[in-house]
Amino acid sequence: MANYDYDLFVIGAGSGGVRAARIAAGHGAKVAIAEEYRFGGTCVIRGCVPKKLLVYASRFSDEFQDAPGFGWTVGAPTFDWATLIANKDKEIARLEGLYRSGLERAGVSIHKTRAVVTGPNSVRLADSGREITAKVILVATGGRANVDPKLEGVEHAITSNEAFHLKELPKRIVIAGGGYIAIEFAGIFAGLGAETTLIYRREKILRGFDEDLRDALTEEYAKRGIRIVTGQVFSRLEKTANGITAHCTGGGKLEVDQVMFAIGRSANTDGLGLETAGVALGKGGQIIVDEHQRTNVPSIYAVGDVCDRVNLTPVAIREGHAFADSVFGKKPRIVDHDWIPTAVFSTPEIGTVGLPEHEAAKRPGGIDIYKARFRPMKVTLTGRDEKMLMKLIVARATDRVLGCHVLGPDAAEIVQMAAIAMRMGATKADFDATMALHPSAAEELVTMREKWTPPAIAAE
Ligand code: FAD
Ligand code: NDP
Repeated sequence: MANYDYDLFVIGAGSGGVRAARIAAGHGAKVAIAEEYRFGGTCVIRGCVPKKLLVYASRFSDEFQDAPGFGWTVGAPTFDWATLIANKDKEIARLEGLYRSGLERAGVSIHKTRAVVTGPNSVRLADSGREITAKVILVATGGRANVDPKLEGVEHAITSNEAFHLKELPKRIVIAGGGYIAIEFAGIFAGLGAETTLIYRREKILRGFDEDLRDALTEEYAKRGIRIVTGQVFSRLEKTANGITAHCTGGGKLEVDQVMFAIGRSANTDGLGLETAGVALGKGGQIIVDEHQRTNVPSIYAVGDVCDRVNLTPVAIREGHAFADSVFGKKPRIVDHDWIPTAVFSTPEIGTVGLPEHEAAKRPGGIDIYKARFRPMKVTLTGRDEKMLMKLIVARATDRVLGCHVLGPDAAEIVQMAAIAMRMGATKADFDATMALHPSAAEELVTMREKWTPPAIAAE
């Protein structure tokens, strides 16, 4: 039998890789991990965590504006970007330390360098050139932010990576894209006081989400002064004495201080040596895996964003854990990619689980819709013009709740809980039988009785 240096070599210490390494080591495997940047990966270093901290920061402007309605007098608030970034960086460094020490405690050998695959059972470390052998290799290298490489002046644009480290808050920013990152950062920059524009290539942001959510958030963003330019992309970026001029395909132009791309992410497989080992990749460079996270090469597995299926942290973690249990823990299991709740941390935020209406409507037997759009209680004293949206989609034949879509404060928290019931197969009757928790916004989900019917079209 071949002798390997390790039972498992993990490339990438992000959400998926760290979980897999720790769990495999816990099952008794001899494990090593390589990380070329910082421990914790995208989520911890330049994704979910710092993003949510900036979201919190951006929401204070609402609190200051709303305070007088509740009798508070606050002086003119001022905001210091440098303080926010320094505090955020401190917290991220603390979390990175926890990720690293967790690996050390589990007995995982750590290599702080890039690693590339050199064969089905070997990797090479970039710093020393050392070749290491392993019985199993796990690729967990995540994704990287896309830009439009052919765009003239693209070097003047940033991505979310740089947005977390800007020296100062831009006074004016334009963000390209209409997905998670564009929408979230538009909310962040607008909340912090920047004049914010989104430029999106199609007609309506958040393609794939429920139409009511897309419409409602578009409305709320307009009320907040976030300008959404649709049906256009940049044609050229030009550096000027006052900032950057973003020329758009519609013929217009914008004068801004920062231009940010948030036009999707691609699997991090370039130069990784996967071809050498014969690992099959998809058109976008993503690693093709089966439900057990196996590639076409029996000794090489992959988890997380590098497989480009559902690119969310909890999914990468679950895949890493299932891989380690299956391969090293004699507890084979696969990850269920259905009923994954997700949030867009816009302000107001979106929480959603299950099918959007346009998908549910394709199911045989038809669907019923329940929806409510109302002013959350908190804004009743403040005069803020903001409406919450709650929507349930129910299969007519089985009464099962197929989709739950919320826009408004705490939508993420609400939907995480609804997801448990829905995954268990909850019916509308179950929702109705659940006692309301009053006064809350979420109680609307268990008190909606009237089916929604499209408004009648008036006769000519
Ligand atoms: P990653 O966390 O990306 O880890 C991959 C690691 O591999 C990185 O540390 C990288 O440096 C390292 N690496 C790459 N190549 C090599 C190599 N050759 N050698 C050594 N190391 C290498 N998801 C959510 O669920 N909720 C959110 O709110 C959310 N917000 C996000 C906000 C932003 C701005 C971004 C960009 C993403 C966000 N995500 C969010 C997505 C989430 O961050 C990813 O789904 C998750 O991090 C994927 O984990 P992973 O382990 O697959 O990869
Ligand atoms: P998304 O896939 O969410 O959105 C990409 C956006 O860019 C879409 O609006 C897309 O338009 C547009 N786009 C794609 N290519 C181009 C192009 N060439 N020119 C102009 N526009 C283009 O990607 P993000 O970058 O926003 O985020 C990456 C992933 O990270 C997300 O999909 C999600 O999985 C994860 N994430 C999760 C978060 C969360 O859970 N809260 C937060 C942030 C990220 P079109 O609709 O036409 O395709």
